[in-house]
Amino acid sequence: MSMTLTEKILAKAAKLAKVSPGDNIWVNADLLMTHDVAGPSTIGIFKQEFGINAKVWNRNKIVIIPDHYIFTADKRANRNLETVREFAIEQEIKYFYDIKDNSHFQANPDYKGVCHIALAQEGHTIPGQVLFGTDSHTCNAGAFGLFATGIGHTDAAFLMGTGKLLLKVPATMRFILSGEMPNYLLAKDLILHIIGDIGVSGATYRTMEFAGDTVEQMTMEERMTLCNMVIEAGGKNGVIAPDRTTFEYLQGRTQPSFEPVYNDVNARFFSDRSYDVTKLEPLVAKPHSPDNRELVRNCRDVMIDRVYIGSCTGGKIADFIHAAKIIKGHQVKVPTYLVPATQKVYKDLFCIKKDGQTLSEIFLNAGCMEPAPPSCAACVGGPLDTFGRLNEPQVCVSTTNRNFPGRMGNKQAQIYLASPYTAAASAITGYVTDPRDFI
Ligand code: SF4
Repeated sequence: MSMTLTEKILAKAAKLAKVSPGDNIWVNADLLMTHDVAGPSTIGIFKQEFGINAKVWNRNKIVIIPDHYIFTADKRANRNLETVREFAIEQEIKYFYDIKDNSHFQANPDYKGVCHIALAQEGHTIPGQVLFGTDSHTCNAGAFGLFATGIGHTDAAFLMGTGKLLLKVPATMRFILSGEMPNYLLAKDLILHIIGDIGVSGATYRTMEFAGDTVEQMTMEERMTLCNMVIEAGGKNGVIAPDRTTFEYLQGRTQPSFEPVYNDVNARFFSDRSYDVTKLEPLVAKPHSPDNRELVRNCRDVMIDRVYIGSCTGGKIADFIHAAKIIKGHQVKVPTYLVPATQKVYKDLFCIKKDGQTLSEIFLNAGCMEPAPPSCAACVGGPLDTFGRLNEPQVCVSTTNRNFPGRMGNKQAQIYLASPYTAAASAITGYVTDPRDFI
């Protein structure tokens, strides 16, 4: 009867005593998240299949977060926003984090920012639950010990009408990270290392569970970075057992009545891989694949045109704190774009201080650009007028999660995925740079 954490969550959600990898089961969802890009077609399919006057299965269990293409003059993008707004009002969706005024984002108290970080900040990432989202990086939420995965529009429309989904139980690959984290490494280096090891299809339709004393010492923000990128290895979900760090993060954000779930003692894993983090070095993923791993120090001759610090992977407040640690007291040599993931991160940039200076002062004194309105911005390219979009075939060091051709705009642009430390060090020199040069 032994099950892994993920199997136990799915068994409970399916009202079954036991599930095994490969089982096809009907799972009851606790939450469905959608956004301005995937929302309109999900809504269209929902109306087509359930009827024009149909009601969603539970208005309290749907979260709609505009975040992708929002600060733009693009008419089709703005129409998307109107579509989700009309639907949220019509269905009385409880959690609709609207942005009505595109020109003054701070005048929108309901507006949050990038969905995956907003979900966590607003207390929607609850241990033991099942979260589906119409976005592949929904796996981010697994950092809180829940089952969280991205789904397509048709599945989401079905879920919207019924509250359930047919799901195959994934087998679990466990990654045990041990040792004290060196002061030049961040979670981004670890996940790039793992993806480099197993490849972009190395965890296809499997759970990637992260464990070990390194993970136990990590903040929730760093744990999110690990889980965020499991989809880059094809993972169905990422997960980390909840602990005191998890509960402290959730305190005051959500109801304390959740039921955390843990691996059974004799749980069976598809595979176990162990890493001694003290032996690892800063890494990048070179163009054009997240598994194109290389040591940063081997890329010293790569001249860059810009640095981008942002997204659900690398635009959290901890990511900016890490970048500021390196940049403080230096001048950047290339345009350095700062895109906070959420409105809260944006505000924190102007409040949190390091040695008497706010983070924004540190960045502006170093010559970085003004922090942008929080959104997905250029992480996914977006309309031509998107802040930070790579409209030319330039070379960019980015804290985002994907570097496929065209991902940030121009198809000939070259994206080096990196940690906030490496991104900051590279901004200072104008070359891909190992952060140890500045620590
Ligand atoms: S920040 Fe990038 S990866 Fe994250 S949800 Fe937005 S587009 Fe997707």
